[in-house]
Order: sequence, then structure tokens, then C-alpha cells
Amino acid sequence: MDSQPITLHQRRGSIRSDGRRDKVRVADVHGRFTKWRKRAFLALIVIYAAAPMVRVGGKPLIFLDILNRRFFLFGRTFNAQDAYLIFFLLAGGVLAIFLVTSLLGRLWCGWACPQTVFLEGVFRPIERWLEGSKHEQVRLAKQPMNMRKLRILATKHAMYLVAALVVSHIFISYFVSLEQLREWVFVSPREHWTAFVWMAAITGALYFDFAWFREQTCLVLCPYGRLQSALTDEDTVVIGYDAVRGEPRGSVNTPGAGDCVDCFRCVEVCPTAIDIREGLQMECIGCAACIDACDDVMARIGRPLGLVRYDSLTGLAGGKTRMGRAKIYLYAAILAVLAGTGIVFAYQRKPFEATLIRQTGAPYVLEDGAYRNQYFVHIVNKTPQRSTFEIRAVLPEGATAILPIPSVELDSLTDQRVPVIVSMPADAYEEAGDREDGSGNGSDDDTGYDADDNDGTFDVVVETRDRSTGLIVTSQLQFIGP
Ligand code: SF4
Ligand code: SF4
Repeated sequence: MDSQPITLHQRRGSIRSDGRRDKVRVADVHGRFTKWRKRAFLALIVIYAAAPMVRVGGKPLIFLDILNRRFFLFGRTFNAQDAYLIFFLLAGGVLAIFLVTSLLGRLWCGWACPQTVFLEGVFRPIERWLEGSKHEQVRLAKQPMNMRKLRILATKHAMYLVAALVVSHIFISYFVSLEQLREWVFVSPREHWTAFVWMAAITGALYFDFAWFREQTCLVLCPYGRLQSALTDEDTVVIGYDAVRGEPRGSVNTPGAGDCVDCFRCVEVCPTAIDIREGLQMECIGCAACIDACDDVMARIGRPLGLVRYDSLTGLAGGKTRMGRAKIYLYAAILAVLAGTGIVFAYQRKPFEATLIRQTGAPYVLEDGAYRNQYFVHIVNKTPQRSTFEIRAVLPEGATAILPIPSVELDSLTDQRVPVIVSMPADAYEEAGDREDGSGNGSDDDTGYDADDNDGTFDVVVETRDRSTGLIVTSQLQFIGP
């Protein structure tokens, strides 16, 4: 078993063939992509933290209240009955990943994944600030423990813990209301043990991930990297090395050498410790650090930039990249259909539900010479505000309805069952049945009786009206007699 440390020149990623890991210490890099990534990270940290806090129409921009089975997205309110819309969201998300990855490789991983954003935007800068450059970090690691090292390590891990605590609260705020979260923060853990344990577990997992596990999350845990080989092709724009121009490698003055001076700067800055010159690899998260590192080297030795660059394998081999391909059109078409259908469904979705349901027990009773059916209307207020709903029964001649609660006021995302009792005099019911039997043609007459069943049954229609908007939702069920 190899117990010697692997040198930079032998390195092929941070995980050795025997499963052990070499800690990756990343060299500083400057350049246009690094500058844009820093801006993107800052913007994304603000967006990720603010999304559950920003209010649209009085509701959170994003809040997945799983405990109460209600969801707030972009100011709109959804409940469990809207779960079918999740299909369009998830399927659309998967198709969007397919499309973007086929076109632009792992753009998401390098620029927007929270793992990258918080590691490169928060935790690595803390390490750099306290421990210095890559070489200073290596020197510190090799030193025996002394007061200075102890102070640096203690400060670093304390800052990591605070950062993990903040990130865990950001994460939890997507699933727990801000009011609840605030209460948990300011009262003793003894009053909310379960929530406290969850928070501690998430903080611990984040600390472990960002302080130590780091790139292994991308290499070992995340399935997306493994999808790469299935989704990319020769025309996908990835980060690649121009072997035509770069090989054979050699120092600046080596006769016949290509442009690559074999300086290993591209490897030194790589957060997954791979060598981009070995081609497209599963470990490459598309961070573009190697582009900036190599461009810097090329600028210093007066050679054209772009030896490592965003390009397709076809482009790197000297060919012309085809952005429009059959699979791109297919993904785009399916995505458009999914998005269109999802938008139509979301648009047609009623802001409240009113469903007529038969009460349990006997379907009808005969009382005081009349048949009686008992129902209730189940009203769910899906609007973001408190609303009043008025209930009205539409019945054929002779039938009467009793509505003990003709209007109800419901808070947002609450529901209530409102009783509806419908009676029909027995002789009128039976007479209607006789009339239907006699007609024999199954057609409706102007009394509203349903002729299909050839008896005295009819439809009980209940209209529920939102008083503030005037919107009416109709629901109906058959009246049942003997
Ligand atoms: S090979 Fe380049 S783009 Fe890929 S992870 Fe390493 S530095 Fe980033
Ligand atoms: S940074 Fe550029 S020149 Fe240096 S080893 Fe990498 S590809 Fe070659």
C-alpha cells in the first residue's frame, strides 16, 4: 500500500486508488473568470439567503412548509391538492439540466451550485485569510503545534462553525417560517428539542462538508458529475486543453515544443486536483480556475491566451462546434411542452376549492314525507388572504336545501366542511320517476331531473362564491332516493 504523499506531478484527483484522500490546497488565481465568479457568488449568496425572506404580495418568495403541506412560490400559494404541478416543476428541472449540460457542460457546478458558492465564496476565503497562500498553508500544516498554529486553527474552525450555523439557518428558513425560526433562535433549546437537534445535525453536516469533505462531495456523493458522460458529446462546450497547440510540452526555449510550458499552474489552482490536460474528466466541476491560471502564464510568456478555454472537443481538435444538434432540439422541445403545459395548468388553477361530498351513513332518509340527502361542501381557501365564501344550492323545482352556514370566512390555506341538506317530497320524487319511466327516451325535461337514470334522481348543484372576487366554483352530486 502506498503511504507516500503524492506529488503534484503524480496527482490524478484528490482521492487515491486505495480510497485515501490528499487534502487539496488550492493556489490563488486571478483573471476574468475568477472575477466574474466572485461576483456571481456574492449575488447568489444574497439570493439564496434572501429568497425565503423576501415577500411578494405578503407571502414569501420561496417557502416550502412541508409540515403544514403548503408551499409558497413567487408569491403564489399552493397546497397538497396542487402536488400535480410539482411534476412539471421536477420534470422541467431535469430537462433544463439535460439541456444546459448538453450545451454547456457543468456550468451549474462551477458557477451556481450552493456547494461551490459557499465553499469558494465563504469557507475558502476564511482559510486563505487566516492561513495565507497555498504554500503558507502547507508550511503551517507541517509545523508542530505551537501557540500561533493553535490560535490560527482555533479561529478558523470557530469561524467555520459560525458560518455553518448561518448557512444551516438559511437552509432551514426554506422549510420553517421566519417567525418560527426567530422564536427557536431566541428561546431555550429545552423548549424545542427536536428542532434544535435538526439544526445541530445540519450545522454539523455543513461544517464537516465545508471544513473537511469539500471536493469529495462533488466527486463521491453528487450524482450529477456521473451524468456528465451521458449528457455531453463532442460538441458540448466544456473547459478543455488545446492539445493541438500545447503538445509536445516543454519549457519556453525548448525547440519544437508546443505552447504548454508544463508549469502545472492549471493543476495547482484546481479545487478537485485534476490535470485538465488529460481531457474531460468526471472530477472537473467546470470552475474555470485553470483557464485563468493558464491565461496568466500565456500572457507572461507572450503567447496567445486560450490554451485552456471554454470550447467543445470538436473545437479543441480544430473543428467547428455545432450548437444545434438533434438532442438539443429534442430536449428544448420537450422542455417547451412541459413548461407550456405547466403554465397553463398553473394559470387555470382555481384560487379556492369547493367540493360537494356525501356525508357518511345512509344515502337518504325518509322523514316527514320527504326524502333527505345530506352532503357537505369542502371549501379550501388557497388564496393568500382571508376570504369569505358564500354557498348556494341550485335545485330543480320541488327540492329544497337547508344551508345552516350559508357563508364562511376562512384564513389563507385553511379549509372547512359546510353542511348542505337537500330534501325532496316523496310524492314529487316518485312522480318524477314515473314520468321518466313513461317517457322511455331518456331525455331531460325542463324540471331539471336527470333522465339518464330513468328514475327520480337529480343533480344537486352547489355554487360557492368568493365574495371579494366574485369567482364561483360549482360542484354537483346526485340526489339519491329509493
Ligand atoms: S480542471 Fe479546471 S475547470 Fe475543472 S475543476 Fe479543475 S480547475 Fe476547475
Ligand atoms: S497552466 Fe497552461 S502552460 Fe501551465 S501546465 Fe497548465 S496548460 Fe500547460
